Amino acid sequence: MRTLKTLLLPVALLIVQLLPAQRDWDQVQITPEKVTDNLYVLFGAGGNIGLALGEEYAYVIDDQFAQLTDKILAAIRGITDKPVRFVVNTHWHGDHVGGNENLAAQGAILVAHENVRKRMNSRTDRGDRGVSEPAPYGALSKITFSEEMTIHLGPDRSLHLMYVDPAHTDGDSYSYFPQENAIHMGDNFVDGYPFIDISSGGDIDGLIRNLNMALFIVDDQTKIIPGHGPVMGRTDLIAFRDMLSAIRTRVKQARDSGKSLEEVQAMGLTKEWDAAKGQGFIGPAQIVQFAFETAD
Ligand SMILES: [Zn+2]
Repeated sequence: MRTLKTLLLPVALLIVQLLPAQRDWDQVQITPEKVTDNLYVLFGAGGNIGLALGEEYAYVIDDQFAQLTDKILAAIRGITDKPVRFVVNTHWHGDHVGGNENLAAQGAILVAHENVRKRMNSRTDRGDRGVSEPAPYGALSKITFSEEMTIHLGPDRSLHLMYVDPAHTDGDSYSYFPQENAIHMGDNFVDGYPFIDISSGGDIDGLIRNLNMALFIVDDQTKIIPGHGPVMGRTDLIAFRDMLSAIRTRVKQARDSGKSLEEVQAMGLTKEWDAAKGQGFIGPAQIVQFAFETAD
């Protein structure tokens, strides 16, 4: 059955791979790519950074790691002189909020869903994953929202922050730019199998609902910035949704027939996607585990 150990151990191994201490920050390059007239994505190490140009200010979606802030700001300065006034976090993970304190110290106001602030502001014993200490006050969101928020970028342009169902974590939000026809989906959409952070309230059923919701927003021209991976489009999003939906159905069926997690993991239920999507951060055994543990 689902013991605490089977739940936590694979996740603990994954988190170790994430530890920034193992990175050589000097080797990381921040590479900007223009997405639309007023929106860029910056690739580096960690979650993709969105950079929107407003009338007076620049707006940043996620900020990777603290060690990269100088490089990130240099890359932004190569694009715009406008001050970075608002920083939005798509969720609370360290590879998306690591630059918060640095950017806030330079005058940015941190914005996120209220659960992002709550999780960053609490001490949590996460068993085999260790203890997550509260972030410094300077790294915490100063403006939080519960369902949605509109940030007005100029006379006729806006950024809509939309809280979505618990999926990757319980503090996920989409950053939608209607006039740019672009959206940053955080880690609800990645180029690979997604991480469902169960200890942060993650849930595969919520993820599939959120992907279906996103499909109501996007059209064939929409530029979709995923949490990790290259800029993608509607066709990629449909394929990602279909893949997760199929995996969820298969795993749930096997689980509900009485098989153990280990038995289900040995069934090869994800094999047609493993070569393309299961070679990165999350492998086949993990995505099966996430579905096994969270599919209702
Ligand atoms: Zn994440």
